[in-house]
Amino acid sequence: MTQQITCINCPVGCRMTVTQDDTTKEILSIEGNTCPRGKAYAQQECTLPLRMVTAVIPAEGSETPLSVKTAAPVPKHMINDVMKALQNARVKAPVAIGQVILPDVCGTGVNIIATRPL
Ligand code: SF4
Repeated sequence: MTQQITCINCPVGCRMTVTQDDTTKEILSIEGNTCPRGKAYAQQECTLPLRMVTAVIPAEGSETPLSVKTAAPVPKHMINDVMKALQNARVKAPVAIGQVILPDVCGTGVNIIATRPL
C-alpha cells in the first residue's frame, strides 16, 4: 500500500510517499522528505497519528467560556472521546493560564489545560 503524506513540521510542506506492507503494515520506504523530521512524522502518521485538541468550555462566574487544549498531542482515534469529556467539563473562575482542567483525559496520560487566564 502506498500513500501520500504532507509533512506539517515546517512551512516547506514536503510531500512524502510512504509504502507499507499490505499485510503487516510495516513501513517499507519513505520518500520525499527533505530532513529527518519528515521521516519521523510519516512514521508516526502511519503507526499512531497524534493530534492536539482545542475547545472552549463553560465557566461559572464568567460570561466568556474558557479556551482549553491538550497539553500534548493525543491519539487521533481518541479525539471524539476527548471532545465528549470536554462537553461535560465545567470550571469556576479564577483560572490561571496553564492550569490543569482535566487531568489524564480519557486515560491518554495527557492533561487538558487552560490556554488563558479567567
Ligand atoms: S521534511 Fe523537513 S523540510 Fe520537509 S516539511 Fe518536514 S520538517 Fe520541513
